[in-house]
Amino acid sequence: MSLFDLVLIKKYDRSGPRYTSYPTANNFSTFTQADYQNQVTLSNDRQGPISLYCHIPFCNTVCFYCGCNKVVTKDKTKAEPYLEALFKEIDKQGELFDSKRQVEQMHFGGGTPTFLSNEQITRLSEKLQSAFNFSKTGEYSIEIDPRGVDENTIKALAKARFNRISLGVQDFNAAVQKAVNRIQSFEQTKSVIDLARENGFKSVSIDLIYGLPKQSVETFKTTLDQVSELRPDRISLFNYAHLPELFKPQRRIDVFELPSADEKLAIFKYSMDFLLKQGYVYIGMDHFALPEDPLAIAQQQGHLYRNFQGYSTHADCDIVGLGLSSIGQVGDSFSQNEKNLEQYYQRIEAGELPVIKGQTINADDKIRRAVIMDLICHFGLDFSKVERAFDISFNEYFADSLIELSEMHADGLLQLDEHSIKVQEKGKLLIRNICMVFDAYLASSKTQFSKTI
Ligand code: SF4
Repeated sequence: MSLFDLVLIKKYDRSGPRYTSYPTANNFSTFTQADYQNQVTLSNDRQGPISLYCHIPFCNTVCFYCGCNKVVTKDKTKAEPYLEALFKEIDKQGELFDSKRQVEQMHFGGGTPTFLSNEQITRLSEKLQSAFNFSKTGEYSIEIDPRGVDENTIKALAKARFNRISLGVQDFNAAVQKAVNRIQSFEQTKSVIDLARENGFKSVSIDLIYGLPKQSVETFKTTLDQVSELRPDRISLFNYAHLPELFKPQRRIDVFELPSADEKLAIFKYSMDFLLKQGYVYIGMDHFALPEDPLAIAQQQGHLYRNFQGYSTHADCDIVGLGLSSIGQVGDSFSQNEKNLEQYYQRIEAGELPVIKGQTINADDKIRRAVIMDLICHFGLDFSKVERAFDISFNEYFADSLIELSEMHADGLLQLDEHSIKVQEKGKLLIRNICMVFDAYLASSKTQFSKTI
């Protein structure tokens, strides 16, 4: 049976969270350095591995579709003061965590982490390794802009212990690239991927976006053929959300060049069918992976997880967010750093941790998080598992949600009985809508979310 049911997609067409966390980041409020330190103490008591996220906010040029927190500049001297501040933050965070706890995962994101010179990336990696206890077998990934990367960079990254790369591609069509101000040839991208594989990188991940200006099914077919030639281990196929009132660079996109809603859905349907035919497994939301990739294996074995970086195989890690705007997940809390560069510098200069907001999660949040995580990662839910973990009667606790789900059951999105929920093939693409039924914050939220499809 196909994943794609146009009638249902149109019926359930609405906006909603991407559930990289529950509660979602729009619910964060005041969260102090002392709150954070208390949560680290709690997490040290529990022990468990650590995942580090390091944010490098700088980009050489702006991509017009961008919705990230970044600083666009060609001035490379901006990197050094940022690193100085980041090193101070790393020292402070490193002191808080029990040194017996191992770093099993690290990710450099941005912005563009390769805005840093090879020497700066090496120094940053060494700094992190001196402040934290790294596992020898960890998963260490970095986002790369192929336009500024050569063989020396790839070798420097391998030496700095990175073993996974993620590349933004979006679309190889020249007219689309011009319309979004991101000119990046297929040859350039292929050369970086070949170099990474030659230098021992275990995994290559590519990001694509559908719904960009000048895109059509016909143009995107060629892009997908080229992507398939590269055979990345993971592919993210994001839906472009045009929200110019929220993201300034998007104001430079000509709305008349955007594909219609129907064309956009047709691109998505074609892409989905194409990737499945090419042997990729649909992980969920916008993610695909080769069957032998750890994400696909984790999903099959029932221990896939979702966090701020998307789907993850490291469910049990506390995430330490480092750098501008980074989000951490430590103990029973989420926390986010300052988003403004000057304020980030000021907080570091004052000797503080630059935490600005966050949320301590309560008992109800934990139950709902477990439900949403199982649904979004494994497309199913066994009520007895939740009952055992939280000592509740599922049918009583979620009586209202179960009534709400009955329409989805009638529409064939899921199978619902008194013991479980099983998301059906045509419900998989609408998994965000299904999760939203269990979200206690949604009804009072004023946040403008992206479309679920
Ligand atoms: S999409 Fe990525 S590379 Fe482009 S401006 Fe945004 S953060 Fe920078």
